Amino acid sequence: MLLRGVKEISGDRRYVFSLQVCLFHIQSKIFKKIMKIRYPVDRKKTHITQGYSWRHKAIDIAPLDKGEGLPIYAVEDFAWDRVVQSNSRWIGYGNHIILKHRDGWTTLYAHLLSMKYKEGWKTGKAGDIIGYMGGKRGKPGSGKSTGVHVHFEMKSYGRPVNPMNYFIT
Ligand SMILES: [Zn+2]
Repeated sequence: MLLRGVKEISGDRRYVFSLQVCLFHIQSKIFKKIMKIRYPVDRKKTHITQGYSWRHKAIDIAPLDKGEGLPIYAVEDFAWDRVVQSNSRWIGYGNHIILKHRDGWTTLYAHLLSMKYKEGWKTGKAGDIIGYMGGKRGKPGSGKSTGVHVHFEMKSYGRPVNPMNYFIT
């Protein structure tokens, strides 16, 4: 009798657990649909030079004419999270910006030539220019970049996602 009761309880727990997992999946599917972002640069003047993979959880976008200085746009309404000025020429992101969006989303823009931020700014809108594309090899602020491009990362509650699934087509 008792043993049967225990079995039944553990069975119920499994059911509740799988229901929770299921709800979580539905929820993330909905978020995926709702979160739509604009492209961080002018699509017509750029192309993707490196896509998203397990070892590059970001996309790299470079200018067709290879010249630096293209404007970088915020992909969605945002709060400034981090604006990092770095003189590094060989390691890391170099100059980079992290923006916070609604529902735990963040985006990162790296290897910037310069950043358009003023002391005291708290928030901004989708499409605001936040900086300019850099990344020339060996230039201060480029970090480990070997050529002009923007390294664009997108995360949901700290977990990297493939930005290609979220762009407005
Ligand atoms: Zn990259």
